[in-house]
Parts: sequence; C-alpha cells; structure tokens
Amino acid sequence: METCQYTINKKVSFAGVGLHSGKRVKLAIKPAKLNSGICFVRSDLDCKVTIPASMDRIVDTFLATTISNDDNVRISTTEHLMAALYGLGIDNAVIELDSDEVPIMDGSAGPFVRMLSKVERRQQKAGKRVIKITKEISCKNGDKEIRILPHDGLKLTCEIDFDHSLIQNQSYTIEVSPEKFIKEIASARTFGFLDEVEKLRANGLALGGSLENAIVVDSNGVLNDGGLRFTDEFVRHKVLDLLGDLALLGCPLQGHVIARKSGHAQHFELMKEIAAHPDCWEFVTLEKSDQKAVLKRVVKSRKATGNKILPFLMPTRNPVNGAVPCSA
Ligand SMILES: [Zn+2]
Repeated sequence: METCQYTINKKVSFAGVGLHSGKRVKLAIKPAKLNSGICFVRSDLDCKVTIPASMDRIVDTFLATTISNDDNVRISTTEHLMAALYGLGIDNAVIELDSDEVPIMDGSAGPFVRMLSKVERRQQKAGKRVIKITKEISCKNGDKEIRILPHDGLKLTCEIDFDHSLIQNQSYTIEVSPEKFIKEIASARTFGFLDEVEKLRANGLALGGSLENAIVVDSNGVLNDGGLRFTDEFVRHKVLDLLGDLALLGCPLQGHVIARKSGHAQHFELMKEIAAHPDCWEFVTLEKSDQKAVLKRVVKSRKATGNKILPFLMPTRNPVNGAVPCSA
C-alpha cells in the first residue's frame, strides 16, 4: 500500500448531465493541501459553499448518496466520483461544481478516471492516515448484511441476488489497488429495471437518465446497444458504489468489507457502526521505514456521541485552498 498522501498536479475540468435533474453540470477537480481530504465547493452560489466529503455530511442514501452543509445546500450522487478518487489513490482535492448533482457521465467511474489521467498525481510530504480495522463489525437488516473484518489492505466483496435470469446471484471480490480498480471496477455502469425507471420518471427523477448513462434491463434482457461491458457488470458496479461510499470515511480503510444485497443505506450503516466502535479499529499514519510501509499509531478516535458522528479527519483538516466555509 502507498504510504504518502497524493493530490493532483493541476486542475482538470469537464462537463456532464445530472442524472435526476437532467441539467448540464460543469465540474473542476483542483489540487489541495496535504491533510485537507476531499472537499466539494458549490461554485454556482454567490458565497462559495464548501462541503467536506465526509460521512457526517450524509443526509440521504435513497438511490444515490447525498451530502449537505448545515444550511441544506446539497450535493448528490457523490459515489462514482469519490470511488474514482479513492481508487486512484488521490487523498486531497477540491471538487468545484455548479449544480447540486455530480454529473452521471456514462453511469460508471470510467470517465472520471480518464479525466484524472490527463493530469498527474503529486506526492505530498505526509503519510496517509488510515482507519485500520482490528475487530469485526457487522450490521444486518433482514437479508441485507454488511460486515468488515481485519485485513492488511482494502478488500471488498459484494454479493447480489436478483430474481432476473440475466443477473441472479453474482459475487465479486477485489483487493483494491489503482491498477485493479481501473481494470476491473471503474467502468462498470449503474443499472436499473425498465419498469422502475418509468416510475422514477413519473416522480420527476432520473430526468437525465438514458441508455447512455445506465444499463437498463427488461424481462427480455439488456436494452443497451452493445450489451454489457462485463458479464457480471451488475455486481462490479455494487463494488464501485461501496468504494465510493466508504471514501466518505475521510481517509483510506484497511479491512475486508463483505456486503450482501446491500446499497447506499447499508454502506452508511456500516460507516456509522465503525464510528461508534473505536475499540474495533485504530487510526494510524503510514510511514516509510527501510523501504517498507509500517503502521504508526497516532491517535485513537474519540467516541461518537449519540447520533452525532464525529468526523475522523475534521479536527486536523487543513482549510481548503481559497474557499472560505460560510452559510448561504
Ligand atoms: Zn452507482
């Protein structure tokens, strides 16, 4: 595992469409100082509102993950972009966008990875801070189950089970590294069933949705020209969503997450359980020693109090370049 923090060497900009609003969104990813984490900035508002990409900012997990500041300024569908940043090992960046929704692009993290490959990663003079799981933590809700076990590195296992001949039971495991993320997970697209897509449209959602940005399945099969990118693209996308949500922990994770029939809500449940059980993990900084990565314990996180989750990185986060947090 890499030991140093990384940002990017220069700004990269692109545009796309919001899945639910159907609106065109302009987005820029900029370098950020060490220990600042990932921060979103709403550039369309008079007072540039900054929202840290942090689990204590999650306000909605229906269909996609949405974060918000205290004044209900929101950014939704953070997961595919966050997965791209985590998957590529980018710890610190500022994401500016002029909408309340991250553009859906082709429904995967592939376009974000391609945009980020136009710039270089820049190593920073600080070790990565990592949550290292030391004891199992699990959450169960009916037939949905998610747990995390101690593991050296980050390993993700997802299992899905749909009553559809094309999908049925699929399982996928990955030992997360930039190379494997790009090759196996980044280009797996989100998916929906035709009858559900029609219901969403009737409720004013998925207005930007099309066969260009999601796999759509009906009783006969896949409606998209060109079919699937992987025969198990559905479960690979679940892995992508899981990684993108875990990125909101605010720092990399060392453990093996096993998720069965789970979605954004269960990912968030697991993250809250992790925050609530500091006896099951250590907060460590990775340092290089004799060419080998070693773990150095720096601080034990404080306990979460009641329903309020204490962010892992916030107390020591550096302010975001040029953006002053304010209410709008
Ligand atoms: Zn997704």
